Amino acid sequence: METSLYISGIGIAAGLIHFILFLILLFRRGKRAGEKLALVYILFSFLWITAVTLAHLEAIFLPVVTESARALLPVLALALAVGYLTCAALLLEYLFWPIIATAGYTWTAILLGATVYFLFVPPSLLPLEQMSMGSWVFFTLGAVILLTVGLFRSRMAFHRNRALYWLLTANALSLGQVLTLLPLGPLQMVGPLVHILGAIALLRGVLSFWLPNVKAVLRSIFRFLFLFTATALLLAGVVIAVERLTAIWGVSSTNVIILLAVGVTLVYLPLYQALVRLVDRLLAGVGFDPAQTLRDYSQTISTVLDLEQLAQTAVQTVSQVLDIQRGALLIASETERGSLLLRPVPGLGEVSTDPVELEPISPILARLKEQDTPLFQYEVEHHPVLREALPKEREGLRALEMEIYLPIRAEGELAGLLALGPQRTGEPYAPRIVEFLSTLAHQTGVALQNARLFAGLQELNAQIMQLNESLRAAYERLERLDRAKSDFLSIASHELRTPLTQIRGYTDVLNELVRSDALTRDQIARITENISRPVRRLERIINAMLDASQLETGMSFHFAPTALAGVIRMALEPWQEALKERRLTLTTSGLENIAPIRADMDRLTQAFSNLISNAIKFTPDGGRITIEAHPLDDEHFEVTITDTGIGISKVDQELIFEKFYRVGNIDLHSSGEYKFKGGGPGLGLSIARGVIEGHGGCIWVESEGYDEERCPGSTFHVVLPYHAHRGPCRWKRPGQEG
Ligand code: ADP
Repeated sequence: METSLYISGIGIAAGLIHFILFLILLFRRGKRAGEKLALVYILFSFLWITAVTLAHLEAIFLPVVTESARALLPVLALALAVGYLTCAALLLEYLFWPIIATAGYTWTAILLGATVYFLFVPPSLLPLEQMSMGSWVFFTLGAVILLTVGLFRSRMAFHRNRALYWLLTANALSLGQVLTLLPLGPLQMVGPLVHILGAIALLRGVLSFWLPNVKAVLRSIFRFLFLFTATALLLAGVVIAVERLTAIWGVSSTNVIILLAVGVTLVYLPLYQALVRLVDRLLAGVGFDPAQTLRDYSQTISTVLDLEQLAQTAVQTVSQVLDIQRGALLIASETERGSLLLRPVPGLGEVSTDPVELEPISPILARLKEQDTPLFQYEVEHHPVLREALPKEREGLRALEMEIYLPIRAEGELAGLLALGPQRTGEPYAPRIVEFLSTLAHQTGVALQNARLFAGLQELNAQIMQLNESLRAAYERLERLDRAKSDFLSIASHELRTPLTQIRGYTDVLNELVRSDALTRDQIARITENISRPVRRLERIINAMLDASQLETGMSFHFAPTALAGVIRMALEPWQEALKERRLTLTTSGLENIAPIRADMDRLTQAFSNLISNAIKFTPDGGRITIEAHPLDDEHFEVTITDTGIGISKVDQELIFEKFYRVGNIDLHSSGEYKFKGGGPGLGLSIARGVIEGHGGCIWVESEGYDEERCPGSTFHVVLPYHAHRGPCRWKRPGQEG
């Protein structure tokens, strides 16, 4: 009877609490899925408490009521277990929670229906009860396993705290249900009490994403129990001592009590403080002096100008007092679009250096700009407002694997964030520590501003140096080309004058012979031949000049099907005599292996002819010239012209393709057309390049260097497409950029 009274008291109180919880949930605006589930849970919880109360009040109600309530208890417990598992799955963001809800509640409804049915139609309810209990065990275990996995999976302290919170709540709720269901006599009363505590905790967990630090709460409880026990023991000792001493000394107990009270009071306070310190130290680790640390820190960073060094100093200062896994400075810079770019500068541990961009409308950005308080990764993941941020922002921050971001401001503007990873202890950052870190971040503002300015200056400096370097190179190149242009004047006058003088000489002779009437047919033939040779040469030079003048305006091409072998044969033709005279061996290979091509035959012949004439001119008598062709890819083939000549220095290898450029002192060039080191107007290669590039090909030279003694030789590479086309060469030289 007494138990029944207690139970009904607890039942009424619990019913009231449920009503309040229900109202709180009902009147919240904009309910999220978690809150809706919690509402269902509280409803079932209310039914459960009512059933528990009714089941124990045989004396007041008819047996049919109490027995019905008792019969319904297992299936109601199952409904609670299903509700809890669904809530836990949803809050830990397991996407399969709707499946659990549907399957669990359907099964519960079937069992409930069957239980109600058999209440009115006996006989046995036993198997149903066992089925409900079995299912309850299944769902409760499911929730515990899910939460334990969640606990070990999350590396961030706040996430772990959340999982731990839910795990403890699950334990409280299931313990409450077990205590109620087991035949424990008066102990059964504890069951509903524990259940109510669990239900309140569940609601608290659903309503607010900030949860109390579970470990800290447990620690406080432990601390309280320890100090409570120590004090109680001391007082018990005093009482026993009073009894004993009164008997031994035979004096009045009042005197002994006064004596002991004074003695114990004297000892108690220092002893208590020592105990508190001991417990704190055991539980929370060694403390540190924040003021001293901050003083040292600001002294150190006042001289730091380098961003990397600043990041290291800041993070390492923190790591001296807290055991953290990683940390970085996130340097903030605003983009033209108004978004904020956070560039990580690692200070400790492995940190991804991929920048994170926060869009102008990002709630995370708004939060950072408007509030000076630290931002936790946990908030980014769970805060209802911040969750609205774009997934790429959340994932970008998540990839950094940080736990807390402390805003660093310079002149009121957000200059960066001090980002710190989780503590190795797995503890969330305590409020006292967060306060210390915020002050540290504030102090970093000016130093960060300075370091950024300095980094900007350094970058500018590097740019200026680079600019200087390219200016110098450009100047040198221009100087060489300028020299080439003025050289051209003397070359041109020389090149043009030589054949002109020859022509003039022979026409004078012809004149003389005509006047003296001594001209024979034979003489006419010889003299005209002697005149026509310099004329041909003049013609060639003037043609070359005309072609060169087209290089700027664009040469015209007539692409038609042709064969590479034919082109090379024609290019070689004018040089057969020269090759013989200079005793040069010329070999060709692979020409026949090149499939038919589409090109401007005359232009291509001209280009190769220029290359061959150069090979002849710059190879000493008796040397070797090799022309080799091979396919490169489906679109291109390559022709190389290699000689055993004097070679070309590295500096000149680019410049020789410029108009009028000739290597070395022009006075040393011989004037013979194909003599060794024979002169020319410096146009052959520029025309060759114009032609090859006009076919969509490319040309370059490789040579160890210029050496007339050793004759290292040169190799001219020509890459051409099978189908000539306008536009740049599509084939990339190995090692060439872009
Ligand atoms: P040029 O009319 O003087 O032959 P090019 O444009 O054909 O003009 O060549 C420019 C310069 O490149 C030449 O004066 C020569 O110094 C150098 N050159 C060209 N081909 C070779 C080669 N095969 N070996 C060595 N030097 C060469």
